Amino acid sequence: MTTDASVPNPQVPREARRRRTFAVISHPDAGKSTLTEALLLHARAITSAGATHGKAGRSGTVSDWMEMEKARGISVTSAAIQFEYHDAVINLVDTPGHADFSEDTFRVLSAVDAAVMLVDAAKGLEPQTMKLFAVCKQRGLPVITVINKWDRPGDTPLALMDEIQTRTGLLPTPLNWPVGEAGDLRGVLDRRSGDFLRYTRTAGGATVAESVRLDAADAAKEEGPAWASAVEESDLLDAESQNHDSELFLDGQTTPVLFCAAVANFGVQQLLDTLVEFAPPAEARIDIDGNPRKVTSPFSGFVFKVQSGMNSAHRDHVAFVRVCSGEFRRGMIVTHAATGRPFATKYAQQLFGKERTVTDQAWPGDIVGLVNASALRVGDSIFEDERVEFPPLPLFSPEHFRAIRPVDSSKHKQFRRGIDQLDHEGVIQVMRSEVRGEQAPVLGAVGPMQFEVVEDRMVHDFHADIRMEALPYQVARKTDKESALVLAGTRQVEVFTRSDGTLLALFSTPWRLQAIAKENPKLVLIDIANAT
Ligand code: GDP
Repeated sequence: MTTDASVPNPQVPREARRRRTFAVISHPDAGKSTLTEALLLHARAITSAGATHGKAGRSGTVSDWMEMEKARGISVTSAAIQFEYHDAVINLVDTPGHADFSEDTFRVLSAVDAAVMLVDAAKGLEPQTMKLFAVCKQRGLPVITVINKWDRPGDTPLALMDEIQTRTGLLPTPLNWPVGEAGDLRGVLDRRSGDFLRYTRTAGGATVAESVRLDAADAAKEEGPAWASAVEESDLLDAESQNHDSELFLDGQTTPVLFCAAVANFGVQQLLDTLVEFAPPAEARIDIDGNPRKVTSPFSGFVFKVQSGMNSAHRDHVAFVRVCSGEFRRGMIVTHAATGRPFATKYAQQLFGKERTVTDQAWPGDIVGLVNASALRVGDSIFEDERVEFPPLPLFSPEHFRAIRPVDSSKHKQFRRGIDQLDHEGVIQVMRSEVRGEQAPVLGAVGPMQFEVVEDRMVHDFHADIRMEALPYQVARKTDKESALVLAGTRQVEVFTRSDGTLLALFSTPWRLQAIAKENPKLVLIDIANAT
């Protein structure tokens, strides 16, 4: 197919408007996998819940596919799932649940247009949720809050609203309000229509629950005091102007709230409707010079994740690209902004967990997996015709450090290839120093579990057994050449060059860092902790 990219394609704005690209942020166990399954079920992408789950007693997995994930029950990698819902195309990008993979999550959040913050009704805002929320806030992502597990005893809804407001600074604007307290879910009051959506149990939540809608009069007859109290509390919210306002939501000042029981598929359809109605479509993206790249511009996108070894039968290397503008056509030749070299997109796929389908076409907001794209690194931009580069994805400040070497020194080639690859994928940061030598890299991680991923991947994907030795450093600071010379001769400090060229000084403790900075205030010691 040949298409002249200089002629605007009217399909582009239409398709971009249909897209809703989002991620779910939550603390482990809040119910993210269950919700993902339920969303797919509602969208009729799968026929019965359970097909996506890798956990206890259930078979198969769509969004979690690595062996390690199954073993640990946590999501190490991110997958994107696409499905249609009414006239919308939903792209759900999975985020790793564990705090150790926050860097990965940060990258995922750079590829989405909105986030769903999933909260366990009994636990409120847990630490990992807050950490991820902070990233959303920093990125200016609109956040929809979903209070899950409402079928179980938990906090009162008003207490939860208070907690959200105090801890996130967002004004909660509930779209529905529970009827019956947590643990005795009768249904919800749809605050816009005033109707009652009755909760009907389904056997194990395995099929789409039928939602029964009753008007207020019937609800009052059926639910009596529980209904009256929901209406009263909803009126209270009215009085505080806690009603949805699109502008304030998109501006990151308010968060619409829904109550649901993902395991029973209750409230899930409302979430889909909310995404379609309120979440932003794919829109212009700001480039490295601060200019918006309109969705109608020729094709462009950026790599937010690189991964290999996802399919042990085919040793491959997939670069996940978020389409920012234009039409993506499989086979098109794009330019790799970092090198200026052409790149052929012959092998483009969409990943539905383990299932892959070839993608012939994609639009702004979509996620495309480019197979065998070994030249592409995390953060790289690609474009057609009109050059554009999107801002690089920042690296976090590492807090854990290990020296690494091959067990069998004759396997040095495999070792080197493996380390380079994992560096490339952003699995771990790789640093070297003149003192230690080119052959003795040091790995830096935000969370120690990243080292386990390295170990696993080195053995299984690169056939290079490794030995790691923990290094006695706790803090890293970015420095410059001049300061590095001074620091190199200082006790309990070691200076490295990270593979992106950044000079990093590692300090044994925060106190040692403080003392050195105080002794020598002229030293350049930049805190890159929050990746800004
Ligand atoms: P994740 O770690 O966030 O992916 O959480 P999971 O989806 O694996 O859910 C953790 C546990 O909570 C599982 O045992 C689920 O069955 C359970 N769970 C999820 N949603 C609900 C819900 O709405 N109600 C109840 N009672 N349990 C739920």
